[in-house]
Amino acid sequence: MRDIKALIKDLVAANRILGNEGICDALGHISVRNPDNPDTYFLSRSRSPELVEEGDILEFNLDNSPVTPTDTPIYIERPIHGMVYQARPDVMSVIHNHCEELLPFGITKTPMRPAVHTARRIGVCVPVWDIRDNFGDTDLLVTTNDQGADMCACMGDAKAVLMRGHGCTVTGKSIQDAVHSAIGMKKNARAIFTGLELGEVTYLTEGEVNAASPGQTNLRGHDRAWEYLCRRAGVA
Ligand code: MN
Repeated sequence: MRDIKALIKDLVAANRILGNEGICDALGHISVRNPDNPDTYFLSRSRSPELVEEGDILEFNLDNSPVTPTDTPIYIERPIHGMVYQARPDVMSVIHNHCEELLPFGITKTPMRPAVHTARRIGVCVPVWDIRDNFGDTDLLVTTNDQGADMCACMGDAKAVLMRGHGCTVTGKSIQDAVHSAIGMKKNARAIFTGLELGEVTYLTEGEVNAASPGQTNLRGHDRAWEYLCRRAGVA
């Protein structure tokens, strides 16, 4: 039980961080799978991430229905979360955002590939899912489980997926992993934009993206970054 309490605390911190770092604005959300019951996940009720508090966190089944029926408004794009958890047993946390720096990679032929070392974690290339391919003209939001499952099929075993004309979904083995990846994607996008103004961009090679790193097994850097992000977001 104490672990769940700590997990919820981290989930609230992650909400604040994603707001503070400009990954989520008024919209966007982050969830975490219940480690005691992999068939449910925790997600805030419908609030802007920067405002989320512990009392806002609700538990949902993987079909995206609330475990305890509620009258409180809940995010309509829940299918993104439950369908990722269904498709990917390895995923423990899911972020959906409309980060402005990432949108261009979903609406052009320019691929989202790592150009800086902090973006190695997003994988060699982030696939782009187009809701129109199988669902025709929609409002582009993922509001049905079929749409969520279709997005997951495009993502495959990638770390993230861009959603054409909408935003992106990022996964993680933990809340922290997902948050660092979302921030890494944004920083990578900015480096590419700035780089393109100066000239041709050199991307990391596949070998560089997949190269073993002693740093990856050392959690100290990870903890240091989390502490930094919490401080910036005003989280105790
Ligand atoms: Mn959305």
